[in-house]
Amino acid sequence: MSANQPPPLVDYNLFESDAPLRESLEREGGSWAHDLVHELGRLAGTQQAIDWGFQANANPPRLRTHDRFGERIDEVEFHPAWHELMKVAVGHGLHALPWREPRPGAHAARAAAFYVWSQVEGGHGCPVSMTYAAVPALRQSQKLAAEWEPLMTTLDYDPGLQPHASKKGVLFGMAMTERQGGSDVRSNTTRAEPTGANGEHRLTGQKWFCSAPMCDAFLVLAQAPGGLSCFLLPRVLPDGTRNAFHIDRLKDKLGNRSNASSEITLDGAWAVVIGEEGRGVRTIIEMVNHTRLDCVIGSASLMRQAVAQATHHTAHRSAFGKLLTEQPLMVNVLADLAIESEATTILMMRLAGAFDRAADPVEARFRRIAVAIAKFWTCKRAIAVVAEALECHGGNGYVEESILPRLYREAPLNSIWEGAGNVNALDVLRAMQREPDTVSSYFGEVELARGADRRLDQAVAELKAEMANSNELESRARRLVEQMAVALQASLLFRFGEQNVADVFVSSRLVKGSGTFGALQPSPHLKSVIERHRPRL
Ligand SMILES: Cc1cc2nc3c(=O)[nH]c(=O)nc-3n(C[C@H](O)[C@H](O)[C@H](O)COP(=O)(O)OP(=O)(O)OC[C@H]3O[C@@H](n4cnc5c(N)ncnc54)[C@H](O)[C@@H]3O)c2cc1C
Repeated sequence: MSANQPPPLVDYNLFESDAPLRESLEREGGSWAHDLVHELGRLAGTQQAIDWGFQANANPPRLRTHDRFGERIDEVEFHPAWHELMKVAVGHGLHALPWREPRPGAHAARAAAFYVWSQVEGGHGCPVSMTYAAVPALRQSQKLAAEWEPLMTTLDYDPGLQPHASKKGVLFGMAMTERQGGSDVRSNTTRAEPTGANGEHRLTGQKWFCSAPMCDAFLVLAQAPGGLSCFLLPRVLPDGTRNAFHIDRLKDKLGNRSNASSEITLDGAWAVVIGEEGRGVRTIIEMVNHTRLDCVIGSASLMRQAVAQATHHTAHRSAFGKLLTEQPLMVNVLADLAIESEATTILMMRLAGAFDRAADPVEARFRRIAVAIAKFWTCKRAIAVVAEALECHGGNGYVEESILPRLYREAPLNSIWEGAGNVNALDVLRAMQREPDTVSSYFGEVELARGADRRLDQAVAELKAEMANSNELESRARRLVEQMAVALQASLLFRFGEQNVADVFVSSRLVKGSGTFGALQPSPHLKSVIERHRPRL
């Protein structure tokens, strides 16, 4: 170490250094996956993996629309580092673990593994997540699931456009969003014309956002004669010819640079309907539920990496004669960030556990509402946490090599993709109004901590009163969902976290309301909170 600079944060185990994650994995029934998550934690801390993350972002994918003879190929070229990242992700089953091993705790185990590995690089998580999420939607057609699922769940990363029957493993994407409207998919204009029996159609239209276009197949929404329907559209047809899926251009994005997001034209592309014609939203919502869980995992992962970097940096950097971690105001900021990260990790794992236990109606109802609550709130908080963690590094945090700029650019994406903030907040209202039992399940969960803390009990009573007031509900949705999220996190912290953390969380979030980080009441416990979160080399 020299010139008051910290040693690089490398060669540490991201799983073993994350106490809230280790505890949650056990609690949610995923301890059988300990070795898997441990191994990914080790790999994620290696210089090799860290380098792949930087290389994949410094060398973004390139579109090749035509070959040298002028024939359309519609391919995207990725840097070798992208393929290395994908190989690890697929090789460890991050795209398929619960479908490969449908045992209690499988979604929780996958959540922990995905959270650990995504800390190296967020962009390649996109096709991994979409493949994981496509399975439950695909299962609405037994025939298609029998044909595709075995290939979606192998541990072989087999890139390149080939007929699926000749591949060792395949990946899936989704194409819902169109230029005239993404949130409002009912405004989709892509047409699906039936071409005969067996649900086969030709799709014509444009999609405005289609990420990871080198995936082998896509779930696509299009207007069939019977209404908006969900289709499986492969990139290559069984005879080896390419489907009429043309990539018009790649998006020049704020972040998520390693990943390709494209605008595409479907020019009579072959596709087959999944589920019932006219019920496309209902079919694809199965996929959206799982990708929304992954937005929560992605946000938790970004927060954790930012807090790991900030607690590490400040433990080795001095200013005004003392280590930054000895400066009372920096202690306040770091502890506040660590508490937010812990509350998010615990919530993420509880939510993943609800996916595991969805056969239980109470858990299914909890999942229905909690996924929208958690997606809204954790994605918003990730943006603020990453920005503040970046500032803890001073000027070093503003420099690409620190990884913080990449985390910062990645953070807003989870909040936009799969339903932006307002859309998720309104989805919570929809659940409240159309499925009121989901609210009972939510309060059933929160009130498991009843009596643990007077302030939490008071907040729950106020929340119930807020919800009973139907005046201007839509305009109040964000405030309401924030309160729901924070009360749920507080309940989880009282039951499963450290009492000090729960106490500070409640006094700063429930009583005072979330404002700037670093405005906690001074407490002798703050340093131990930081130590709990600081990674050890
Ligand atoms: C990097 C990236 C990758 C993506 N990849 C894919 C992909 O692979 N496949 C795919 O299908 N899509 C993809 N998307 C698209 C994404 O899902 C949409 O951008 C998102 O759903 C929002 O839709 P929109 O852009 O049309 O915004 P709009 O629907 O126009 O929304 C704009 C704003 O209005 C708000 N809003 C909408 N309705 C209401 C309302 N009723 N009340 C109040 N506020 C409202 C929204 O919350 C949002 O803040 C991707 C987007 C990004 C940024």
